[in-house]
Amino acid sequence: MPSFQFTPLAAIQGLGKELQTTFRSGVTRDLKFRKQQLKAMQQLLEENSDILAEAIHGDMRKHRMEAMLEIIPTINECKHLIKNLDRLAKPKSAKAHYAINSMDKLIVRKDPKGVVLVIGAWNYPVYLLLDPVLGAIAAGNCVIIKPSEVSSHTAKVVTELIPKYLDSRFYRVVNGGAQETTALLEEPLDHIFYTGGGTVGKIIMAKAAQQLIPVTLELGGKSPTVVLPDAVNATTASRIAWGKFFNCGQTCVAPDYVLVQKDQVEEFTELVRNAIVKFYGKDAASSDSYSRIVNERQYDRLANMMQGVDPVTVHAVGENNREDLFIAPTVVAPVPAKGHPLMEDELFGPYLPIVPVDDVDHAIDIINMRDHPLALYVFGDNKKQVDKLIDNTRSGGVLVNDVIIHVAEHGISFGGVGPSGMGSYHGDNSFNTFVHERSVMFKPSGMEKVLAARYPPYTDDKVSL
Ligand code: NAD
Repeated sequence: MPSFQFTPLAAIQGLGKELQTTFRSGVTRDLKFRKQQLKAMQQLLEENSDILAEAIHGDMRKHRMEAMLEIIPTINECKHLIKNLDRLAKPKSAKAHYAINSMDKLIVRKDPKGVVLVIGAWNYPVYLLLDPVLGAIAAGNCVIIKPSEVSSHTAKVVTELIPKYLDSRFYRVVNGGAQETTALLEEPLDHIFYTGGGTVGKIIMAKAAQQLIPVTLELGGKSPTVVLPDAVNATTASRIAWGKFFNCGQTCVAPDYVLVQKDQVEEFTELVRNAIVKFYGKDAASSDSYSRIVNERQYDRLANMMQGVDPVTVHAVGENNREDLFIAPTVVAPVPAKGHPLMEDELFGPYLPIVPVDDVDHAIDIINMRDHPLALYVFGDNKKQVDKLIDNTRSGGVLVNDVIIHVAEHGISFGGVGPSGMGSYHGDNSFNTFVHERSVMFKPSGMEKVLAARYPPYTDDKVSL
């Protein structure tokens, strides 16, 4: 592990106040300044993509291809925000509803919120940290950037690079774990953007409530995948296996479990196993395309989860190895929807349980037994059945006939619902999340004769409707 320093608590205390003062200078409100800073971020990412990919590899042994799949969407978000900033930041004009206000000018300004704290997660340590930062910069805020301490290689590189490209008067990196983040939450902030698990999400929200600070929470959950009878084929299996074992299953929108009609479970299990072998060979440990579990704590959590699972149902491609933090891509089938160790919490690792169902209604019941997930995946071309699944369930987002790639499509926003999160970002919404829509009404100073009707004394003729 590289030498990686947490920020001293003394340097955190007072940081919010300091940035509130620099925010009031008005510099970050200037559109030209915001575009400069966004361009600097684009440059940071483009000039250092190799260094960043190496750091991500250092954290999870993620292949360069997978690392680039988080760096490239971040660059594209820079481009989108630079190109569209004038449109996004332009005040909207509105029409008065009441005749008495018809001479007024009504506008809704897109004001920056002020000082924003962005708390990143470790599994996509560039994208999940810097993508919201871009939105906060575009919206004209000062930003405190808190990388996850778990992905320390990337945190170290980001900490070195940010001050070389961004104006340190307005954008600061703070490193640390629970203690440092807790200290940050005491600071005067105007918005908190958190990505990570729901348990810590509740702590963040409770802390934010003490100062009435608005929050965006990007959380997780068990994202179900339904394979309709017409979609049991090699293409479906490849797409699901790719999204599941990408980054060794450590993806917030990874397909968590698959619902397959019961007479097709055996065939589908075989198709997924074939896809895994095609991707990683017969021993995934020797494939450089396959990542590792981020640390021993996560490894042990995943290993414990398998305790008590019937070995006959476990199909693993490789031998687990704690020293190497390797957990083999593993299909488990059949798995009952209730009362099975893999059907309790979000897996966040390379296990794929396959749950037999009777029909679409049964699949809907199983999905609705749990918290609303971050994503719902449906494979099939039967529009009636696909629509039925979407109409009768809830989730942060839906992707039909593929998995996980909707997150990188910035034409649509991304976020959870209920326990999988609140608020959203990406594309235009990355900007919208970090502004306050401030309504302004300009009244003519004249017209007093008409407007004076509201003044006391309130005579009966004034009160009549
Ligand atoms: P993590 O351990 O990196 O924690 C996230 C952040 O919270 C870190 O910056 C960490 O320093 C901070 N933190 C930890 N404990 C804290 C405390 N007690 N008080 C204040 N801050 C604290 O990440 P994680 O929670 O292991 O991430 C995994 C979870 O995140 C999964 O549930 C996953 O689904 C979810 N996730 C969601 C998204 C999304 O975009 N919705 C993306 C990635 C991960």
